[in-house]
Amino acid sequence: MNRIALFPGSFDPITKGHENVIRRALPLFDEIVIGIGLNTQKQYMFSLEKRTEWIESIFAKEEMIRVETYEGLTVDFCKKINANYILRGLRTENDFEFEKNIAQMNHTMEPKIESIFIICDPKYSAITSTIVRDIIKNGSDASQFVPEEVIIQ
Ligand code: ADP
Repeated sequence: MNRIALFPGSFDPITKGHENVIRRALPLFDEIVIGIGLNTQKQYMFSLEKRTEWIESIFAKEEMIRVETYEGLTVDFCKKINANYILRGLRTENDFEFEKNIAQMNHTMEPKIESIFIICDPKYSAITSTIVRDIIKNGSDASQFVPEEVIIQ
């Protein structure tokens, strides 16, 4: 059986923390689908096209990674793409509390789908897309927090 993992998120924008989690997960799976979740209630800073393009260029050399967008429940999208794993990153205990609830509810809904967590390297644990957006909104340079393929002008 192919081990397919979905890494869901907004990636607005993708950061070095996300990249760290995805690269470290590569040996664990046969395929990783980076799923950009579309939430009509949410306002994004970067267009879906930009976010997709950045992720594709960061992982251009990784044949086992592809990018998709989806709407609706993450477990429903997992079923659609035959993913048996949901990959998430953990930075802090706040992440843990938040992720624990989602993982438990997802597992109750779909017992065949397991959530797998990777704790990011310490140097990335303070990086959040929210703070990166704040830095950009205030006219400063956030390039040290995002992969070099993410070019923000
Ligand atoms: P969401 O909209 O679900 O919060 P994000 O794009 O912010 O989406 O995050 C997707 C996943 O990446 C989540 O599991 C989140 O905890 C994880 N993540 C975000 N930033 C980091 C980081 N710096 N290090 C490790 N994991 C991270």
